[in-house]
Amino acid sequence: MDLIGFVKRPTAPDLFALAESAREADDSLGRWEQQLAMESSKATVNAPLNGLEEWEDFLKLRYPENGRGATPLATGFQATDPNKKQQQFRNYEADARPTVREFYRQNHRHQAYDFVRAKKQDFLALNRRKMSIWEAMEFLNTLVDDSDPDTDLSQLEHLLQTAEQIRRDGKPRWFIITGLIHDLGKILCLYGEPQWAVVGDTFPVGCAWSDKIVFHQFFSDNPDSQNAKFQSRLGVYSENCGLDNVHLSWGHDEYLYHVVKDHLPKEALYMIRYHSFYPAHREGEYDYLMNDEDRKMFDCVRAFNPYDLYTKNHEKPDVAKLRPFYEDLISEYFPEKLGW
Ligand code: FE
Ligand code: FE
Repeated sequence: MDLIGFVKRPTAPDLFALAESAREADDSLGRWEQQLAMESSKATVNAPLNGLEEWEDFLKLRYPENGRGATPLATGFQATDPNKKQQQFRNYEADARPTVREFYRQNHRHQAYDFVRAKKQDFLALNRRKMSIWEAMEFLNTLVDDSDPDTDLSQLEHLLQTAEQIRRDGKPRWFIITGLIHDLGKILCLYGEPQWAVVGDTFPVGCAWSDKIVFHQFFSDNPDSQNAKFQSRLGVYSENCGLDNVHLSWGHDEYLYHVVKDHLPKEALYMIRYHSFYPAHREGEYDYLMNDEDRKMFDCVRAFNPYDLYTKNHEKPDVAKLRPFYEDLISEYFPEKLGW
């Protein structure tokens, strides 16, 4: 099992902090680049990120909190400005850490149509483990991921913080449980899956890649770039066929959706399945693959997104104190054991 990249690498945050001040100083730019290059070269083949949090930090950079409504679920929550200039997007790419850039390079190279089909065949048999939701939370928590400069939260604490914010806002119980479990699919990492096959903005495979997908240029290394059918607008799909008939790049969203799909309302399942589908829920792309139900349900996906991105803070939730409430909530929706 390859856990390199998830174990503590104490030099990285220091290095990035150093890089930032060096950058400000301007005169030390050469040294900054040199050190980042050294750090990059240490990255293992499958784990360029110092932790999964680095991908989420990059999302927050691209979709800053002040770009949304005043409250997380204000009616009329605005997706990113559809007229946002392409240039702005490219700037995020230019400013991305080398580790993040390398992560997207790998993701875009490998997430091809045949790869996604093969992963689904392998993982969606759900025959690896039998676990309760709480056991899965504890299992995910063994993923040590401490690269986040903003917080030092464990995976379990991120899930509880998300759920607690939804609870504080008086949302229905199915919404709270969705916040609690939405990232459990990240246990894929603990099966030894590479980072690029667990996280990352998701996108349809088997049809043309939207030019709003971040680091679009890296798709030139994807084998599907050589397939004329896959490069056409509709590819293997038909107009408005519905997202349920579309294969998205493989990762923690799709995996968890299949684990829980018989137990939660449709709204919750959309939130879980599409929460990383930023090209659609933030950029408004791929409408032509959606049916009317998808469009309606994407209001839920957009309502969930601020809780996922912006609820992290330093205040650690009291796990022991919260556990009875959440065990109760879990038993309301789920059987004792689920297949994972
Ligand atoms: Fe997620
Ligand atoms: Fe999350």
